[in-house]
Amino acid sequence: MKKEAGAALRVENVSRVYHVGSRDVHALRDVNLSVTAGTVVALRGRSGSGKTTLLNCIGGLDRPTSGQVWVNGRDVAQLSEAERVQLRRRQIGFVFQSHTLLPAYSAWENVELMLRLAGTPRRERPARVREVLTLVGLTKWMEHRTYELSGGQQQRAAIARAIAPRPALILADEPTGELDTAAGQQILRLLRRIVDRDGATVLIATHDLAVDAFADEVVYLQDGRVVNKLL
Ligand code: ADP
Ligand code: MG
Repeated sequence: MKKEAGAALRVENVSRVYHVGSRDVHALRDVNLSVTAGTVVALRGRSGSGKTTLLNCIGGLDRPTSGQVWVNGRDVAQLSEAERVQLRRRQIGFVFQSHTLLPAYSAWENVELMLRLAGTPRRERPARVREVLTLVGLTKWMEHRTYELSGGQQQRAAIARAIAPRPALILADEPTGELDTAAGQQILRLLRRIVDRDGATVLIATHDLAVDAFADEVVYLQDGRVVNKLL
């Protein structure tokens, strides 16, 4: 099966085996997944179930041992290294558990840098930086260095940075993992809003049940396999 109309993402028979000494670790076993454009999909499973490995294979940070990943109709494994870098910078936004902002730079500078990497023309950058920082509720904090922000604010700055180049697909790995309940809910509401407003597609890997209320679909991973429900 090739590209499907409306599918922002297709994962086909993906397996990932890590070789650890003389042992094989089957992190993903024949995973199939299709994500409709403009939806939020929660990828749930316990620690060690393969969530991060799957996100990394989708985002081109890792390669499946076998199987294929299609992002917007292109097979990620067939891309050259240069094309993969472009895919990561322009078409996919990453949000990690621990934000990866540059601490000595302001929220503004962090977002601006991402736009520069994505090739957004200089004259278009200031308006877009302001727009995304306003969207995530950081209007008053734009000039603050990110180490001065709270955990929730830092994660919102990381989301602003991820969405700034208008990626079609946003991959969030445990985005609420280090936040308290209220800040975590705010992040999930924000991701939901980005999908409803901009038509992006969001895949959230998490062991947090709270994500279900914000998702159009919940996919469960257990021992590297997609299952109907968690045991
Ligand atoms: P999750 O994100 O759901 O916690 P991971 O994708 O991180 O799960 O891990 C899935 C399995 O793969 C685990 O058994 C983990 O120990 C193993 N694993 C992950 N990354 C590596 C690696 N770089 N080398 C060896 N084993 C790994
Ligand atoms: Mg993980």
